Amino acid sequence: MVDRYDVAIAGAGPAGAQCARDLATRGYDVVVLETESEDEFPRQSNKSTAGTFPSMMSSFGIPDDVVMSYTDDVVLESPNEYYESYQPGAVLEFAEFKRFLVADGRENGAEYRFDARVSRPILDDDGVIEGVRYNGDEELYADVVIDATGPAAPIASALDVVDLERENQAIGIEYEMEGVEMNHPEYADLRRAMMLRLDHDIAPGGYSWIFATGEDTAKVGICYIQNDRHREFAEAGKTVDGYLDDWVNRDPRFADAEQIDEKVHRGSAHIQMPDRMHTDRFLAIGDTVPSIDPLWGEGIHTGMKSARAAAATVDRCLTDSERRLDAESLAVYERLWHRDVAPRMRARLMLTRLLYLAPNERYDRFMRDLRQTEENTLEKANQGDKGAMAKLLHLSDLPLLTKFARERLNV
Ligand SMILES: Cc1cc2nc3c(=O)[nH]c(=O)nc-3n(C[C@H](O)[C@H](O)[C@H](O)COP(=O)(O)OP(=O)(O)OC[C@H]3O[C@@H](n4cnc5c(N)ncnc54)[C@H](O)[C@@H]3O)c2cc1C
Repeated sequence: MVDRYDVAIAGAGPAGAQCARDLATRGYDVVVLETESEDEFPRQSNKSTAGTFPSMMSSFGIPDDVVMSYTDDVVLESPNEYYESYQPGAVLEFAEFKRFLVADGRENGAEYRFDARVSRPILDDDGVIEGVRYNGDEELYADVVIDATGPAAPIASALDVVDLERENQAIGIEYEMEGVEMNHPEYADLRRAMMLRLDHDIAPGGYSWIFATGEDTAKVGICYIQNDRHREFAEAGKTVDGYLDDWVNRDPRFADAEQIDEKVHRGSAHIQMPDRMHTDRFLAIGDTVPSIDPLWGEGIHTGMKSARAAAATVDRCLTDSERRLDAESLAVYERLWHRDVAPRMRARLMLTRLLYLAPNERYDRFMRDLRQTEENTLEKANQGDKGAMAKLLHLSDLPLLTKFARERLNV
């Protein structure tokens, strides 16, 4: 008997599992294929710090049970300065969050197959996808296939829908720690904060973070893209693990801190402008697109928004009496993506490149400027508002801008 569904989703991350929730709620036959085994899920994919904001929690009905701690502020640090802004957030227990999405999807009728590694698409005579092959020779057919495997992207790559470039790959690692001095006299009070630090001595061409999970516990991590910027500031041969260990050994806030149960989370995502994200009977969502916010690596909310846009698109097409699922009919997904998931992505990518190009001294000045501008300047710049970006630039940034322009023109 042929295994057939309305929708087959590869990957049970925040994007895939959310898409399954939305589609199952609308009554579609949906199956999720996840490479990991259920009893240990998530293991390798338990990779995220999972800092998020109330807008995500309320939009997607995420319960308090999966929250490790609530935070009040976002703090930006540079080598000698910091800037604090009031912005309530939540740090999730990522593994519990993933398991909640699976359980809730199942309750609504979604089917899950664990130990199911998707390898490639099954194509019909016209070269259009009609199913997926998994675990070697197992086959499954569906009207629509969705790739939500994050950076793995086996189906999206085989269909030439996405091309995730290695030079745009950001790698990250994080420890869960206890005994951290969260209110050290020389630094901002981080007891209820998510802190991001711009400092090339710690994270060359990237950033590091401390996200509070309790009075003296925190998620402590570092990430960067291994591009020219990283190489300019990096020490030859030093790995991302080496950089995190160095920071933990040097920063006085970790003087009495220890790693909790050797808990390490690691992973990667691509920071690049999405190109295509669909074709006939196929959609890519989450980090496969990639949907992650380039500036601060917020990928959970954006991935889930892309999942919702995909589910709405599929629902629209399958409601149509002719159930048209050709690329043209599914193109509405890309429009929704650019409107709702990551508006002004190009401007934000530009801001990201500019930010990680700046030297350490410029970061100190950036913090001082932020303290002097209106409260919402950073928020606006964050949304890609060019006026707000301009407010944070100075005449002395001219060499930086020239360097940036040269890199963009590749001369
Ligand atoms: C160190 C680190 C810290 C981060 N911190 C934050 C943060 O604080 N806040 C935030 O919002 N975002 C954060 N992110 C980003 C966020 O975790 C990702 O953007 C998000 O998890 C993307 O979700 P996704 O569902 O698209 O993909 P993924 O989370 O990558 O999920 C993909 C799923 O597909 C499965 N899979 C992979 N290959 C296959 C295959 N061939 N067949 C079947 N299944 C497969 C995987 O096992 C996994 O379950 C962080 C990322 C990292 C690496």
